[in-house]
Parts: sequence; C-alpha cells; structure tokens
Amino acid sequence: MTHALPELPWALEALEPNYLKSTMEFHYSKHHQAYVNNLNKALEGLENFANLPIEELMTKVNEIPAEKRQPVINNGGGHYNHTLFWFIMGPNAGGNPTGALAEEINKSFGSFDKFKEDFAAAATTQFGSGWAWLTWCPENNKLLIEKSANQDNCLMNSKRKPLMTIDVWEHAYYLEHQNLRPRWIETFWKLVNWTAVADNFEKAKAGKTILEIKQTAKA
Ligand code: MN
Repeated sequence: MTHALPELPWALEALEPNYLKSTMEFHYSKHHQAYVNNLNKALEGLENFANLPIEELMTKVNEIPAEKRQPVINNGGGHYNHTLFWFIMGPNAGGNPTGALAEEINKSFGSFDKFKEDFAAAATTQFGSGWAWLTWCPENNKLLIEKSANQDNCLMNSKRKPLMTIDVWEHAYYLEHQNLRPRWIETFWKLVNWTAVADNFEKAKAGKTILEIKQTAKA
C-alpha cells in the first residue's frame, strides 16, 4: 500500500485562534507529508510490511530487519502519531470527557483535574522532542499516562493502545508559544475532542483498530 496524508476532519484554519492556520500549513502539509513520503520510501523492498495498515505496521516494526528498521520507526511513527493527534483535536472542543471514559479517568487518576495535571507533567518533562499519551492497557484494564521520545509510540513495544496524544516537538507549538511548552499544553486542553477520545476508548476496549486511514493499494 501507499501511505498518504490523511484527510482532516476539519479545515486548516478551524482550530484558530488556539492553533494557527500557519502552524497547520507547515505541521500537517509539510512535516506530516514528509513522514508519509519517507515512510513509503523506507518500505520499499519490505514486501511483508509494505501492505500493512499503519496501526498494524506499528505493532510489527521490531520484526523488520535491523538495518531497515529505524527509518520505518521514525517515519511510520511520525505518520501514525500525527494522525492520532489531528483526529483527537477539533474546533469547538475542550471541556470535560463524559460517560464511560470520564468514569474510567476518575477511577484511574482520581479526578479529571488530577489526570490533566499528570498528563501535563508527562508532556512537560519529556526531554527534547516527543509525545505524551493517554493509553489503554488491555492486560490489566487500566488507563495510563506515558511519554515517548522522537516518533516512538507504545504500539511498537507493548500491547497498550494510544487513545490521545500531544505533540511536544517544538515544531508543534513554536509559532504560537516559542519555547513555552507549558503554555502550549495549557492551550491543548481547549482543542481536545473528547468525543473522539471516547470513541477511541470504546474501540480499544473492543480490541478494534483505532485509526482507520485510507491507503491505496500499490499497482
Ligand atoms: Mn509534529
């Protein structure tokens, strides 16, 4: 399959003023596109992996021959992570989660405020480029907060399922916030589409694929 930049569920300017169109123009149209292009290149000659949907590919990166593995981790992670990131944000979003997700957050972290505090701490303390995550661990039926460096994610080395994520690479927030990562994290709460995160939670619990991304079969 050929991986492609996923169509966004909202327009590039839809998250303004919290997330600028100019940021989206380079973050989505340039950075994310480069990950997609480089992933397609990295998969050349890897027949057993080239036809896997991106989420499944992430779970199999360690089976890729060592000398060809890192470019797939970097660029496949870049494609997967950014796609999840776009899909859990939206216009007119923010606020609080509801329903089963809200209950599980309270159970796992004590309260929504405590969850936000712990998630922000993970995002703030990720040294250098990386991501913070809310994940579901099916082995003990628990929500977890975690962080990862570069374009790594927990699909690559665990059974855990990413439900939401924040990009803390400087390119994600530099135009709006320059070096002030905590201010970006504070703004991020206004962008989270909790309906999308709750949907991911239901899929994770049911063992379903979370990110359905269109891929084109190779001719
Ligand atoms: Mn990014």
